[in-house]
Amino acid sequence: MFAVAAITLIVTGCTKKEEPNDYPIQPVPFTSVKLTDHFWAPRILRNAEVTIPIAFSYCESTGRVKNFEIAGGLDTGRFKTIYPFDDSDVFKIIEGAAYSLQTYPNAELDAYLDTLINKIGLAQEDDGYLYTNRTIAEMHGGEGLHKWAGKNRWELDSILSHELYNLGHLYEAAVAHYQATGKRTLLDIAIKSAELVNRDFGYDRVKVWPGHQVIEMGLVKLYRATGDRKYLDLARFFLDIRGPKGEPYAQAHKKVIDQSEAVGHSVRATYMYSGMADIAAIERDEAYLDAITWIWEDIVYRKMYITGGIGATGGNEGFADPFVLPNMTAYCETCASIGNIFTNHRLFLLHGESRYMDILEKTLYNSMLSGVSLSADRFFYPNPLASNGQHERSAWFGCACCPSNIARFVPAIPGYIYAVSDKDLYVNLFISNDAGIDIGKNRVRVTQEANFPWDGKVSISVFPDNVEKFSVRIRIPGWAMNEAITGNLYRFDDQITEGYKITINDAPVDAEVEDGYAEIKRRWEKGDQIDVEFPMPVRIVVADERIEDDRGKIAVQRGPVIYCAEWPDNNNGNVLNLLINNETPFTTEFNSSLLNGTQVIRTKGFQTKKTLDGSIEKLTEEPVTLIPYALWNNRGPGQMMVWLPVTPESTLPLPAPTIAFRSKVRANKITRALSAVNDQEEPGDSNDRSVTYYHWWPDKNQWVWVQYDFEKPETISKTSVYWFDDGPDGGCRIPDAWEILYLSGNIWTPVKAATKYKVTKNDWDTLTFRPVKATAIKIKVKLNKDFSSGIYEWIVE
Ligand SMILES: [Zn+2]
Repeated sequence: MFAVAAITLIVTGCTKKEEPNDYPIQPVPFTSVKLTDHFWAPRILRNAEVTIPIAFSYCESTGRVKNFEIAGGLDTGRFKTIYPFDDSDVFKIIEGAAYSLQTYPNAELDAYLDTLINKIGLAQEDDGYLYTNRTIAEMHGGEGLHKWAGKNRWELDSILSHELYNLGHLYEAAVAHYQATGKRTLLDIAIKSAELVNRDFGYDRVKVWPGHQVIEMGLVKLYRATGDRKYLDLARFFLDIRGPKGEPYAQAHKKVIDQSEAVGHSVRATYMYSGMADIAAIERDEAYLDAITWIWEDIVYRKMYITGGIGATGGNEGFADPFVLPNMTAYCETCASIGNIFTNHRLFLLHGESRYMDILEKTLYNSMLSGVSLSADRFFYPNPLASNGQHERSAWFGCACCPSNIARFVPAIPGYIYAVSDKDLYVNLFISNDAGIDIGKNRVRVTQEANFPWDGKVSISVFPDNVEKFSVRIRIPGWAMNEAITGNLYRFDDQITEGYKITINDAPVDAEVEDGYAEIKRRWEKGDQIDVEFPMPVRIVVADERIEDDRGKIAVQRGPVIYCAEWPDNNNGNVLNLLINNETPFTTEFNSSLLNGTQVIRTKGFQTKKTLDGSIEKLTEEPVTLIPYALWNNRGPGQMMVWLPVTPESTLPLPAPTIAFRSKVRANKITRALSAVNDQEEPGDSNDRSVTYYHWWPDKNQWVWVQYDFEKPETISKTSVYWFDDGPDGGCRIPDAWEILYLSGNIWTPVKAATKYKVTKNDWDTLTFRPVKATAIKIKVKLNKDFSSGIYEWIVE
């Protein structure tokens, strides 16, 4: 406790006296806010009890910790893991553990961090350099140096070495550990490293920009913790030297101040925008501020999912063109959601406008939260908005950025609830808590009683040490008014007239709303109570017409929570073929036994089915149950969708009872994807990732097969196949050849082809043959010498 108090003094001392400039609004740190709610508090506890321990155990079992031991001379051997950025996971989890220790003191964890930090210190070279891959390789005469690392220090950082990326996470961890424990061990390692970076980099020295941003934010934190201005200058240097001759992938295609659109890798992007916001705030830099304002609008007006997820495409792990927001292939990396929260929080601290907190809240309750399972031990990397069962959370990843980001982000969530400026208290999130907040020189205890996100009632009480005048600014969320999102990328399809209500000590108040906050200015006395009631009806959301995948569909939102239809709650597990009946009202109720307790939404809809003539048939009406999007995939993989069809053309009807569909499918290689071959989903081209396909990868240079066993003997004379080909990047191509055989009696016979066997990319290959009566049909496929292949769909008539 003493240590924490002492550090607060140091930090306050240097930010308030020597360097007057920082964010005009300051967040109330999570250490001052004790959650008492039933939604987030259990999540944070499970993060402490489950996520952090298992994340450390993966760092041990995968060799991430061993890398530090070897580099530090405690053990011998080669670099143990896949990527040179694996060091960063250890740093991020230390950061999370440091935060967690402040809410849940744990002597064992504290001691474990000490041993880990000792190993990191030993792995640091004498001059401050820290990068286990190179240090270990140099012990072996350069052998084992990762191809991304570069022969010399730093030279490939703007491409792939991730040396500065690792260090950014080290600095963030070091400041967190110092503030949590008062120990300087990791902070001294960080300072020794930053001194080296400061010596090596500069306009007249190494002038390489960080390929993966984050060191900018890390250096700003180091500057705030130490008061040493050169770390701030270094952060600015790394931003100022960016571009214009680099790749958009790493946001280095223009000088940062000339950028106005969100492009490239979305995690790098949001980390960079956050670093730019820090500089804009501390140095009052208008050019930086203008650039991030333009970029923010580009994201929110054109490139964000209704869940708050960003980064639509997997190929670049990042932003696509405006309005290109496909649902099933949505990337929405968990790290990008966290980065989006970092950026929006900083923009709020700069401007004091609620629209930034609206985006933050939406991301927090939806796209970020979907990144971790209820059990806190499984994680999504991409967070798609629709699934045919091909998505499932994993316990860990070879590239483990997302689990380690969850580990450090979740314990810090209470720090987003409040903020203060001179005489203002901002109430941004509605989560039950008990907080101690300094407003000017007045210590004020603030409590909140709420049952968010399920109920719109909030009760806020203040207990100031001194009876004094100050403002309480209560955020009025867009969803409580008639704004689904600022900029109208998504909008509510109706207008509600019921407004929010505010009372103070039971007397109604007509508070003025400024920048999205209801401002209540008065002389506050101990025990004054503000009651706010936000209307929380089920709202229907429609997307901008330019988002192709959302046309003819609606999304359902209640409060900040976006809902989805998931397989266990709906008839036969079929969800993607649902057609929502627009006439049926939506009802909502709390189900205490479902998914640890959740609000569900009910309506009605129809299952749809294709007929043999190709039209869409509506089956009988049935109940439809919706759950919060973030809670999906906690009951196994299966169908899910956020955007619900209200027109038949936008549904994915059940397949027609064709010969192929009624057959039992077999293949030389059985995988879950085998069901794709007769699901009647037609791809747009041979590399359409929105449609499921079956593949033989990594097999090549051999004959392989798929077979339909018919329900009853059939007379057939025609077959069509659509090949999967993910060239030039992937390992599959259209095959060299194929052949059709039929089974009659016990004998397989090749069909007598009436047309030629063609092998075509991006289209159907159809073969007609002399009619035969058969009990089964087999397609034999000759894989290329160097490539595998796959099938989207195989039709038999
Ligand atoms: Zn990630």
